[in-house]
Amino acid sequence: MSRIQILTIGVDKVTLKAAEALCLRWMEDSRPRLVVTPNAEIGYAAYKNPDLAAVLNQADLAIPDGAGIVLASKVLGDPVPGKVAGVDLATCLLAALSQRGGRIYLLGARPEVVSEAARRVAKQYPGLTIAGFRDGYFGQEEESKVVAEIRAANVDALFVGLGAPRQEFWLSQHLADLNAKVSLGIGGTLDIWAGAAPRAPKWMVKANLEWLFRIVKLGRYSRSLPPLIKFVLLVIAQRLKGRQ
Ligand code: UDP
Repeated sequence: MSRIQILTIGVDKVTLKAAEALCLRWMEDSRPRLVVTPNAEIGYAAYKNPDLAAVLNQADLAIPDGAGIVLASKVLGDPVPGKVAGVDLATCLLAALSQRGGRIYLLGARPEVVSEAARRVAKQYPGLTIAGFRDGYFGQEEESKVVAEIRAANVDALFVGLGAPRQEFWLSQHLADLNAKVSLGIGGTLDIWAGAAPRAPKWMVKANLEWLFRIVKLGRYSRSLPPLIKFVLLVIAQRLKGRQ
């Protein structure tokens, strides 16, 4: 597996199947692994924040989670095979772990959302053990309790949807204590699993327009559009400066 450099972060040239296989292989290991899902917005945030870039660069796997990342890799002349959405990787892992009788923990989202996600996942993947779940709105004072609960759950996969970049910092800070084989930062995936947030229609996913769906449907014009545009311009500048 090779990693390309986009602005200040590395992104792995993996397909969905390769990423899934890697995660499943790591579950046989004793060392805890971190999977991050950078998109253009995170790429821009990391460009502005070296601490975030450092956390992302320490991850064992960084999947190209967005059309902006795929475009950037093409601009830089070293294209990734295609977009690998975090929600798709996470869902593939549920299916694979269900067949193996694996254990998972869900952390993040609002209380009613994570409990509904757990209910739906348990129903759809009966072979899985949901060893625990909890919402993502806890304070500093509950931090060690949350970590202890996850450690005791002893899971194959820990899915953390606290939003970026909180989930990346949180995972990086606690990874060694979580006793989870593979931990993934999954953004709004719990909302999708719970049926609380829509996923883009298939034609938009196929046309690489999921980012546009998120911006328009979720009204994220001011939050997502400026970093996306700045990210693309910075990548073009990186190419023109011949750093790649
Ligand atoms: N969230 C959370 N705790 C927080 C802030 C956010 O658990 O303090 C959850 C939120 O409820 C949602 C997810 O994190 O389930 C963020 O989803 P979003 O689509 O914003 O992901 P991002 O775009 O940040 O990857």
